[in-house]
Amino acid sequence: MRIVSRETIHRAICDAIREITFNNDPAVITGINQALATEKNELVADVLASISTNNTIAPEDQIPLCQDTGSTIIIADIGSEVIIPGACLQEIADQAAAEAQCSIPLRASIVSEPLFDRANTGTNSPVILHINQVKGDKLQLQIAQKGGGAENMSFLIMFPPTTPLQTLKDTIVSRIIETGSRACPPLIVGIGIGGNFERCAYLAKAALFEPLGREHPDTRYAELEQGILDEINAKGSGAQGMGGNLTALAVHIIYEPCHIASLPVAVNLQCHAHRHTHIVI
Ligand code: SF4
Repeated sequence: MRIVSRETIHRAICDAIREITFNNDPAVITGINQALATEKNELVADVLASISTNNTIAPEDQIPLCQDTGSTIIIADIGSEVIIPGACLQEIADQAAAEAQCSIPLRASIVSEPLFDRANTGTNSPVILHINQVKGDKLQLQIAQKGGGAENMSFLIMFPPTTPLQTLKDTIVSRIIETGSRACPPLIVGIGIGGNFERCAYLAKAALFEPLGREHPDTRYAELEQGILDEINAKGSGAQGMGGNLTALAVHIIYEPCHIASLPVAVNLQCHAHRHTHIVI
């Protein structure tokens, strides 16, 4: 068994939140800069240049990449041999998020109750924490700051399992295009297929954490990802909905087994402020 202290995890999460507050995913930075280098339309080039400049000055000046410093999302893969004495992960993550919110500082973005009072917790917690138990003696944490705009444009559809593939693709693409500028494109599109109602939403979220440009190991899904990406970009909605051929930077699919009567599909959108990191303790 391996003992991992509460303090070690707390510090690692605080440091990770600080890092992603100012630093975009390098693959997103490259994608934006490449599009900017070839963009002919002045207005679209101006939008891409603004995003590119923001990517540079945020880490230089230690200013958050976006004013919406988001919900803190953590996917924790905890090894079966890891012991965290005297604390649960949710408590540690919430306290780390609260410390980061205060010390960086971050906008307090979480309300304690969603419908009536909507009182701000003032601490940017609770963290949205997903825990998977895996074999081994490591604690792996995928950590993201997820803004409200892109999250609000995400969706889940329980398709009939007989749905033709082209219908599924067309539905996903048209729903994404309908979001216009509201999810702050260029987007990263995470798609969960299978599981059940709640599991496919989790899969879509987890898909956002996959490295940009990775090739899906199943060639059928690799082809589907590329097909959806090409169709989204062919629509010409573009960066911040201003036109051009870069509406999405990547489409990632994760699938799991599902019920014979079901075909759940969830689409989780991520904006161009793709703030996330992966740490292993
Ligand atoms: S969707 Fe992303 S870029 Fe747009 S305001 Fe929210 S966090 Fe910022």
